[in-house]
This record gives sequence, C-alpha cells and structure tokens, in this order.
Amino acid sequence: MEISMDPKIQAWMNERIKEDQVAKYMRNGRDFIDEPAIEAALAANKNPDPKRIAGILEKSLAIQTLTLDETAALLNVQDRGQWEVMQDTALRIKKKVYDNRVVTFAPLYLGSLCVNNCLYCGFRKDNERSTRRVLSPEEVRSETKILAGTIGHKRLIAVYGEHPATDVDYMVSTIKTIYGVKEKTRHGWGQIRRVNVNAAPMSIEELSALKNAGLGTYQVFQETYHHATYQRLHPAGTIKAHYLWRLYCMHRAQEAGIDDVGIGVLFGLYDWRFEVMGLLRHAQDLEEQFGIGPHTISFPRLEPADNMSYSHDNPYKVSDDDFKKLITVIRLAVPYTGMIITARETARMRQDAFSFGCTQTDASSRIGVGAYAEEYEQQQGRRQQFFLGDTRSLEEVIRDFAERGYITSFCTAGYRCGRTGKCIMDLLRSGAEGKFCKLNAVLTFREWLDDFAGEPTRSVAEPLIEKELREVKSRLPEFYSQLVAYYERVKNGERDLFF
Ligand code: SAM
Ligand code: SF4
Repeated sequence: MEISMDPKIQAWMNERIKEDQVAKYMRNGRDFIDEPAIEAALAANKNPDPKRIAGILEKSLAIQTLTLDETAALLNVQDRGQWEVMQDTALRIKKKVYDNRVVTFAPLYLGSLCVNNCLYCGFRKDNERSTRRVLSPEEVRSETKILAGTIGHKRLIAVYGEHPATDVDYMVSTIKTIYGVKEKTRHGWGQIRRVNVNAAPMSIEELSALKNAGLGTYQVFQETYHHATYQRLHPAGTIKAHYLWRLYCMHRAQEAGIDDVGIGVLFGLYDWRFEVMGLLRHAQDLEEQFGIGPHTISFPRLEPADNMSYSHDNPYKVSDDDFKKLITVIRLAVPYTGMIITARETARMRQDAFSFGCTQTDASSRIGVGAYAEEYEQQQGRRQQFFLGDTRSLEEVIRDFAERGYITSFCTAGYRCGRTGKCIMDLLRSGAEGKFCKLNAVLTFREWLDDFAGEPTRSVAEPLIEKELREVKSRLPEFYSQLVAYYERVKNGERDLFF
C-alpha cells in the first residue's frame, strides 16, 4: 500500500537536491559510469593469459590502482588454481598495507523514519509493518554507554534514514552526544573516539557541518552502479531516485573537507562483475579529481528484510564462491583501501574474507533502533532493517581473531592527528602508516584487554600482545622505549595515549 506524504515533509524533500552540486563534477555532461565501456572491457578480456595475470598481480603488489581492462581480466579468470594465486596475493597485499590488524566497530541505528522507498529495505516508507522510531538524546546516551562502557567499542557507524526528523541538525547533535559519553570501566574509562556516519547524500554545506562535529568517515553506498537497475529499485518521486545526486556525494564530501569517504555496493541487485567495475571507476574518479581514493569499500550482500519479497526471487543473488571472488578482486584492484565486511555475513564467511583482503568488521551488532539498551525482544524483526548472519559478541570475535594471529586495533589516532585522505593514502601505499598503526594497536588492545576481557580471551591475547611488542623491538627499535613507557601508563589506567 502506498503511504501518502505529509505536505511539510514533501516540501523538505523538494529542497534536498542541489543540481549545481552534481553537474560541476561531470565531464561533458556525462557521469563516470560509462556502461558500454565497462561491458566492452569485460567482453574484451575473456580467457586472460596467465602471464598477463601475473603482471597485473605485480602491479597490485606495488599498491597501484588497476585499470578497467586489468580488473576485467581478473574478473574473467576461470581456473581455480589461478584464483588461489590471486587470493594469496590479496592476502600479501593486505599484510603489506595493514599487517595482522583488524579494526572493529559497531553500527548504531539512530532512526528508522525514511522518505525513500528502496524496494529491498525494511525501512522503506511503504512498509507499514515497520515500527518507526527516532532516538532521543537520552536514548542516544543509553545506547552509547553500553557500546563504550560495557562492550568496549571505540568506533561507531551511526546510521540514519533520510527524513526531516533525522536531518543534518539531528546528526550533528547526536554525534556530539555520542562523543560526550564517558563511562567508567574496570581500570579506566570507555569512550567512543570515532563516529563514522552512514546516511543519505548531502549538500556540501551539510557535509561541512558534519565535519565540524567531528565526523570520521562518511559512508554512502551507491547500491548499484547500473543506471536502469538503480531506477527500477528506487521509485521515481523519492530523493533516492536521483542516481547522480548519490553518485557524486563523495565528491561533495571531499569539497567539504571530509577526505575519509566510504563507498559500497549492495551486492545482489545487479551483476557482481559489473558492480566491481563500478566501484573501481568510483575510486578512479575520486583519485583523478581529488587525488584521494576511498578510505573504505563495503560490499554488503542483500539480506532478507521484514515484509520484503524482493530478495527471495532475485536473479543476481551472489553465491558464496562469487562473493569470495569479488572480495579478492576489490583488494587487488584498489590495493590501498580499507575493506569492510559486516555481521550480515556468517562467522565462517567473515573468517574467510579476512584471509583474502578484509580489514574491518563489526561485532556485537544490534541493528534495531534502540536495541542495545533495551532487551532483545520478540519484536526485533519489526524494527530492524534486515536480519544478521553473525550475532557473536565483540569479545567472541576478538578471541576468534586472536586465536588466528590477528590483533584487534581500536586505534582512532589517524584522523585526530591529520593522517587522513591523501596523507593516509600515501602512507598506506608506501607502507609507512603501518608503523603508527602497529604501535597504536598494541596500546589500544592493552586498554581493551584490561577494561573488558574475560580470562579465556586474555589467555589467548596475552601471548599475541607479547609477540607484537617483540616485533616492535626488532622492526621499529626507534619507537620501542616510547612504546614501553606508554604501555606501562596504559596498564596503570591512563587511556587514549597514541602515536
Ligand atoms: N538511508 C541511508 C541510505 O540509504 O544511504 C543510509 C542508511 S541505510 C539503512 C544503509 C545501507 O543499508 C544501504 O545503503 C543499503 O546498502 C543497506 N541495506 C538496505 N537494505 C538492505 C538489505 N535488505 N540487506 C542488506 N543491506 C541492506
Ligand atoms: Fe531509506 Fe536507506 Fe532504507 Fe532506502 S536504504 S529505504 S534510503 S533507510
């Protein structure tokens, strides 16, 4: 049933899109998703020669962004053995750029009101079964207290529907509220140190306001880069129907001074090979116009949502095998970028994904509005956007990673000391960022272990942190004594020391 729109909300919607903040980034009136060129590259690079693939992998290992043809060749590889070589290379690249670190975060849903009608989403305006809600400042504080004080997160992704009740002023005030929460823990205190945002495309002026409020990464997924599919899934008359307003929001973010931007595709809406090429084109265009590619790439797969039939009979559903392939190719094509896999996926898939490219994941996730502070009740399905595949706690996820040699980093130093955008890209490409990250990973992991870990986790994690300290001593001797001094201070209850 179509739900009619309040005239005041309609008036707000009519003012959202600024055409001049789209047209200025286009070239000769065309956007950067040249579908015939993508299709032609995919068709022209069938059955690639193994020697050519080896050359492409060398380029990825040198942390250089690939071309459309090179990426098409990788996507067209058929031989299983060659895919294994590609996955090994993806892991080598990840180790080179990000070492054995894992970054964790939690999603925080602030509101489920939405003026859009995306066919695949439980929050779409015509889903009359969805229980709508927007968190009050007190509720935002309660959610944050649990995330920062009980679970131990340091990073959040704040998620908003598109609605005047959760407009940019609401976003600014909730970001400030989140940063303001400081909770006592076992040996120190817990606090959110980086608030990233996943929200609708905004104007340059609105994005500047978010930047001033202390935004970390601004994340918007294009959902699908295929124009006709996009139009079909985002009904006319909604704001989201404007493909170009969305396509160029990261360009506007750059102009607003937000240089950590996160792009993504909702895989399962259109052909996955085409979408990987779309992500690459997005990264290339940002590099060309601003000298900075995406800080992160996300690749959620479509999940069933409440009262939604779309995902059940979908010809573009991505199999597990193809999902692993697309993760591998994204790592190879845009080698410097952070790659996020979420709790939409099962624990097993997340483990695999980390072994060929992923760097970040969420844990202890609740995707209902207000779901952290309140008991998880039967109603959950009705107020969340879709369903999760992995509901393990942060501690379980950290222990699992530690058992496999990964250290969880809660470092948020980068954006607070100017290591963002082009600066961080250059550091990542050269491998130099790694040294700061390694030191900060040790310090923040120590904090988390002392404040939140139970005995079984500590027994796995302590040998790991000792190993990291030994590695710093041998690989970064110039920082070792300073690190040990900070480490002792952290053990004595000081918090938030970083390089
Ligand atoms: N409303 C904003 C927007 O659409 O950009 C941001 C919030 S929206 C809740 C965040 C993301 O959730 C969307 O960009 C989409 O990729 C993803 N999403 C929506 N429905 C989904 C589903 N059924 N399964 C998996 N992801 C979904
Ligand atoms: Fe609204 Fe975003 Fe869901 Fe679309 S995906 S209905 S814009 S919350």
